[in-house]
Amino acid sequence: MGADGHDKKKGWSNWSGNQTAEPQHIARPRDMDDLKAAITRAAGPVRVVGAGHSFTPLAATDGTLIKLDGMGLVHSVDQTAKRAWVNAGARLKYLSPELERYGLAFRNLGDINEQSLAGAISTATHGTGAGLSCLSAEVTALKLMTASGELLTISRERDSDAFDAARVSLGALGVIVEAEVQLVDSYRLHRLTWAEPLDALIGHAQSRWKTRRNYEFFYIPFSGYGISIAHEETKNKPTPRPPQDDDEAVLGLKRARDYAEDDVAGRREFLKAAFESFEGEDVIGNSWQLLASQRNVRFNEMEYHLPVKKGLSALSDVIAIIEKKHPDVFFPIEVRRTGGDDIWLSPFNDGGRISIAVHAYHEDSYDFFFSDIEPILRKAGGRPHWGKLHSLDYRSLSDLYPEFVTFSKVRNRLDPEGRFLTPYLKTLFGVKGTR
Ligand SMILES: Cc1cc2nc3c(=O)[nH]c(=O)nc-3n(C[C@H](O)[C@H](O)[C@H](O)COP(=O)(O)OP(=O)(O)OC[C@H]3O[C@@H](n4cnc5c(N)ncnc54)[C@H](O)[C@@H]3O)c2cc1C
Repeated sequence: MGADGHDKKKGWSNWSGNQTAEPQHIARPRDMDDLKAAITRAAGPVRVVGAGHSFTPLAATDGTLIKLDGMGLVHSVDQTAKRAWVNAGARLKYLSPELERYGLAFRNLGDINEQSLAGAISTATHGTGAGLSCLSAEVTALKLMTASGELLTISRERDSDAFDAARVSLGALGVIVEAEVQLVDSYRLHRLTWAEPLDALIGHAQSRWKTRRNYEFFYIPFSGYGISIAHEETKNKPTPRPPQDDDEAVLGLKRARDYAEDDVAGRREFLKAAFESFEGEDVIGNSWQLLASQRNVRFNEMEYHLPVKKGLSALSDVIAIIEKKHPDVFFPIEVRRTGGDDIWLSPFNDGGRISIAVHAYHEDSYDFFFSDIEPILRKAGGRPHWGKLHSLDYRSLSDLYPEFVTFSKVRNRLDPEGRFLTPYLKTLFGVKGTR
């Protein structure tokens, strides 16, 4: 490694393996000077990567890839305000136990906690809960190093335009070095999971979102059944949790698919029997340990966030087309709800939304996402998850986001030379030229 923290050229691939790149340099800065050197002097385009868990080519570059995981964990904690400044490149799975030492926790988390904080906020990563916003909405201030190497501290009070843009910014404004996050007191959750037929899931979903802290469900294609997961806050003592078997369950669905081939009726009977003997979970534990799961069976994913009134009917259409045309699909379809916020590029900035996520095994084709699923989700007024597969470009995105043009102006102010722009980013922001 060179004095500025650069590795020689090495290949890069994201978590699922559907995005690869050959960056000339991988920079692992240890301090602000290293970072400034990588941003201002190393080969462009410059991209910063967290855990590489996005399915879109957001982090891919043949220039310089920056990784911030060597820049620390929790920098300072204000226990009265329940806020902490943390290394934005730190992984959520390391931040949660560290914050617990201060009696603090993230208000909510997504399905996993492998992501870096900056990667998660940059794509509006969310969990589920009608009253719970995406992680980006918990950010109260940011330190952002721009293309010129200037370190800006931004918040609602200081450069509010940059702040409104940066909280969901796809690494297009600069490198988020540190983030101040609003936390809550550490809390325990009571987790319940159970199986139900699809019509009950759809029929109860809205009322469950109204009454439960966290509620989501997974519909299992070709089964007529799904699994609900609910969490409520509790002061009761933790209970032992049996080992997690989500990966084994997904591989079981794959085996059912492989064995049944085109015998959809046989597959449905087999899965129905399995659901009738499903044993759910009923456990109490720390919030971050129960909210985040392990996902070791690799997949690719499309997720759209839909207006609350349209989400469940779009879900029925998605299920119908998968079960009519795509017997290869076996991964559960995930359905969640997230509260609204005011961030320019947050998919939730005009109110809470229902999210529908469709997955394909990493060795299987995901062309059907674009041919059959995306048209349904777009017709229902959906906005894509920034880190998950979609086909939208500047024209369609600027129709979906009232502040998209304003965001692009801030991007142009902070990075006038397009140092952070790859060809993919240019398609998103309507910038001409291939480099
Ligand atoms: C198994 C799995 C489960 C998932 N579960 C959920 C879920 O429950 N909810 C959900 O909403 N999403 C989920 N996702 C998607 C994931 O949360 C997002 O794609 C997230 O952006 C990944 O974080 P990351 O650290 O890997 O970021 P990366 O994918 O590495 O980067 C994402 C974006 O952030 C930018 N970025 C990273 N670090 C910085 C920085 N320091 N400064 C500026 N920009 C930066 C990158 O340039 C890129 O544009 C899941 C993905 C996988 C693979």
